[in-house]
Amino acid sequence: MNYVVVDFEWNQAAYGRHPEGRRLPFEIIEIGAVLLDENLNEIDRFSETIRPKVYRKLHHVTRDLTGITQEELNRSDPFPYIAVDFMLWCGEDFTFCTWGDTDLIELQRNLKYYHLQDLLEGPIRYYNIQKMFKALCQPEVSAASLESAIDYFGLPKDDAFHRAVNDAAYTAEIFRQLDLEKCDKLYSVDYYQNPKCREEELHLNYEDGYKYVSREFRNKEEAMADKEVRATRCFICGRAARKKLFWFTGKAKGCYCLAWCPEHGYLQGRIRIKHTDEDAIYVVKTLRLADEEAADRIREMKQDVIQKRRERRHRIVSESKAGKSAGKNRKKAAEQ
Ligand SMILES: [Zn+2]
Repeated sequence: MNYVVVDFEWNQAAYGRHPEGRRLPFEIIEIGAVLLDENLNEIDRFSETIRPKVYRKLHHVTRDLTGITQEELNRSDPFPYIAVDFMLWCGEDFTFCTWGDTDLIELQRNLKYYHLQDLLEGPIRYYNIQKMFKALCQPEVSAASLESAIDYFGLPKDDAFHRAVNDAAYTAEIFRQLDLEKCDKLYSVDYYQNPKCREEELHLNYEDGYKYVSREFRNKEEAMADKEVRATRCFICGRAARKKLFWFTGKAKGCYCLAWCPEHGYLQGRIRIKHTDEDAIYVVKTLRLADEEAADRIREMKQDVIQKRRERRHRIVSESKAGKSAGKNRKKAAEQ
């Protein structure tokens, strides 16, 4: 199996809102990629700029960041031609590698805009090299930039950053520094093309956890009423883990729970609600083992939620009392 390390540069609306802004917030104007064999040796490179159709004028931020010029874009081919070339170039048996988790989303959004989504079937199993670098080299850093990761390994920086093919080559360099066997266990799945029915739902097992991506629901209430969404099976032994704390809405609008497997201890659950481009929702649930400390953090979060709700109720009650007595006073004043 080969690896396609890919990077895109994109353009956006020059000022404010654009009628196509929702369907295509970012228009790809450059595709750069490095094709690697299974031993990570370079086989070939792909580098093409694209003539934009929606945001024809190059945004000054994109121009300054990338060094791409308007003239360069004007004499390039449009996206459908380049996209077909690119997917043919990728071949049959390959895994995408990217720096971060946004590139594949924008690629699929651009393909969909031109009704070319058949070129790339999802959900896509891929390697997020940024995530792997973090997990294997800098667990304490939130999200390293590509340049800082190159500096971390002391690799040469001869080519300009923020040109697609250069960034792809830098990402490939970092990939080569990582332990390939460990990488394989840290794979990601892009679910921009989210599951539509129960059969397509994703159940992903990792060494340290489990991830579930649901089919679509109309709203959060409908999703949370679903048995599979709420389920807390232990991802190690498969047994049902009893809930110690039922699902509650905590910080950042996520839902959290705490369950207990008699053999493997605490499991912490988190549910995030995701929105599709078509305004449906689906659920991403993760289950991880939790130590006593992590379990306490979830308990504290729940206490916090209860406390805040209590305070809010008090405030509403006392405000409505104040409102009533103010009304009475006004009435009295009017009668006098
Ligand atoms: Zn278990």
